[in-house]
Amino acid sequence: LYTAKLRRHDVEVYDSTADRAAHRVRMIGHLRDAITAGDLSVHYQPKTDPATGQVHGAEALVRWEHPEHGRVSPDEFIPLAEQTGLIRPLTTLVLDTALATCAEWRRQGHHLGVAVNLSARSLSDTELPTRVGKALRRAGLPAAALTLEITETAVMADLGRSVAVLQDLRALGVRLSVDDFGTGQSSLAYLKQLPIHEMKIDRTFVLGLADDQGDAAIVRAALGLGHALGLRVVAEGVEDAVALALLADWGCDLVQGYHVSRPLPPDGFQQWLDTRNASVALAGVLGAP
Ligand code: C2E
Ligand code: MG
Ligand code: MG
Ligand code: MG
Repeated sequence: LYTAKLRRHDVEVYDSTADRAAHRVRMIGHLRDAITAGDLSVHYQPKTDPATGQVHGAEALVRWEHPEHGRVSPDEFIPLAEQTGLIRPLTTLVLDTALATCAEWRRQGHHLGVAVNLSARSLSDTELPTRVGKALRRAGLPAAALTLEITETAVMADLGRSVAVLQDLRALGVRLSVDDFGTGQSSLAYLKQLPIHEMKIDRTFVLGLADDQGDAAIVRAALGLGHALGLRVVAEGVEDAVALALLADWGCDLVQGYHVSRPLPPDGFQQWLDTRNASVALAGVLGAP
């Protein structure tokens, strides 16, 4: 509904800047209420090994179900949160929720990690490492259970400060991942300066993998670069079996995408995990690939 509304705005010839500003202010108010009322939730999308099918962990993705506007996409409300200072409570909320869920998986016998997205704003927040350390202690998890995903654009926005914050996070023992790799406007030189463990190839290249030789070349080059730098490489946006097989063949470490699973609410993810582990174990017994 919210998107429909935006589209209406786009085509309305007489739509004024004032209307848009008013809409924006309303949405900011709704978002603030949603954070305090607990109307935001977190879904989880598995990161799996393309060769064995083994589940390695999951990415936490925030969800907002607005009472009137329906589901609002994070691509729409994360920027609003960033512009208004709401990003700090939002990040803390997602972090606490994701870590508590990860601790629950481990109690159920699933030794998984969890990844949380950080916005550009958070990277210039010098108190972030302290807050992350506290969140880990609240959940009773070792720092290595947590991966923080950052985009190259976010890092480049304030390179000096970002690197300092990332170094403090790394010193805690948290794993760091560069998200949406290949879409930013930065040079490759920054990659070797960053204290990171993981690279995620953007889904725009992965979606066309099976049909587009250019995309296939970019994915293979990114895999080679990541591995040469000693990074774990993840491909996002794996939507079909052909892409999955190619990525397994090329030695991609982990995959994420609708072909494996959509992002799921916590109970759905638990069920998916139980079924998945049972079938992977059975494939092992039967000697299937
Ligand atoms: P991202 O971190 O790159 O997350 C991946 C996005 O791709 C997610 O969209 C996910 O649902 C979608 N996706 C996963 N598999 C497939 C696939 O096979 N095909 C296609 N077409 N898409 C796939 P989502 O959940 O709408 O999130 C969009 C972006 O919003 C994220 O991109 C991330 O940058 C941001 N975001 C989400 N949650 C948070 C959060 O808690 N904090 C912050 N700061 N940003 C968040
Ligand atoms: Mg991400
Ligand atoms: Mg991404
Ligand atoms: Mg993205």
